[in-house]
Amino acid sequence: MTPLSALLPNELAGALALKPAYRGKQIFSWIHERLVFDFNSMGNLPAFLRRDLAGRAVAVDLEEEQRLEDGDGTVKFRFRLKDGKAIESVILQDRRGRATACLSTQVGCAMGCLFCRTGSLGFSRDLGAHEIVDQFLLLRAFRRSSMSVPFADISSVVFMGMGEPLANLDNLRQAIEVLAYSGFSRRRITVSTCGLVEGIRALAAGQLAVRLAISLISADREVRTRLMPINRSNPLPRLREALLDYQSKLGKRITLEIVLMAGINDRPEDVEALVRFVRGGNEQQPLKVLVNLIPWNALPEFPYQKPEPGRIEWFEGRLRQAGIPVTTRISRGSAVCGACGQLG
Ligand code: SAH
Ligand code: SF4
Repeated sequence: MTPLSALLPNELAGALALKPAYRGKQIFSWIHERLVFDFNSMGNLPAFLRRDLAGRAVAVDLEEEQRLEDGDGTVKFRFRLKDGKAIESVILQDRRGRATACLSTQVGCAMGCLFCRTGSLGFSRDLGAHEIVDQFLLLRAFRRSSMSVPFADISSVVFMGMGEPLANLDNLRQAIEVLAYSGFSRRRITVSTCGLVEGIRALAAGQLAVRLAISLISADREVRTRLMPINRSNPLPRLREALLDYQSKLGKRITLEIVLMAGINDRPEDVEALVRFVRGGNEQQPLKVLVNLIPWNALPEFPYQKPEPGRIEWFEGRLRQAGIPVTTRISRGSAVCGACGQLG
């Protein structure tokens, strides 16, 4: 069975040997604009083609296995893949009712960040482009069918679910191409990375043209290396240069995500290292960033704690005083374990 969700119209026509070729465009429109996944309901296709497609292709390959809804508008989905493995995706809703789809790019993750539940699972495999697009389509279909909400669609997409997106760059790229072709603006898509320099360079070179978020955690070399093994091969100075490269080529503000853990990375040394990282030293250009402070979301099997509210305010205040834009993320979805870092 050929999965179709990550194919552009001309690729659909090619892969399915469709004649005339405009059938590719029709099928794309059914799947991505009208969110119709059953070939039988694709009214403008001839009956023989509908039967033929049903026998050899699938529009959406993931199977929804579980759906947990939190009181605050968060919905966590667990999807079963064809090989029996499972992934999770989350809809997060802000106070105004706008929905963000948080998508996974891998089963597990190889990066081994000490504070992350997905990291503690280890790496299983990359998701195919169609498995990435399928999550978006199913979340979008769910959202459009829940009529009681003011914004009945997905407003933005963040690749902050399971896995490291830039370690699965080709499939990520194909998935984003398909979303963009279906009319979902690249400006509303954010890729979050633990800081893979090569992948950031690829983004800077004009591939994707989406927004970038970095899980920085700490700008103190020793702390970051302890919590994020990737900092050994992708050290902070090289990361910073890659960010400058992205910034100068795409002109976009970069989000720096700091998951704050009491006594670990909320110390004066950490905030000062962060200020220096953003400002740059002599003759270095400053980074144009938004710092996003994320108070640690509790995970029973992990030895960390969220800082006291006063500590978070102090950290935020120091950044503000240094002229660095900063927000503190209110945790949503923790009741269904759909908050940051709780996937797995
Ligand atoms: N691999 C990518 C994207 C997935 S991680 C990356 O690392 O950026 C998604 C986000 O969840 C990251 O910003 C990570 O720092 C954060 N996170 C991980 N564990 C967390 C926890 N327990 N509490 C709050 N945020 C967490
Ligand atoms: Fe992987 Fe991101 Fe978790 Fe690190 S924080 S282990 S890169 S998913």
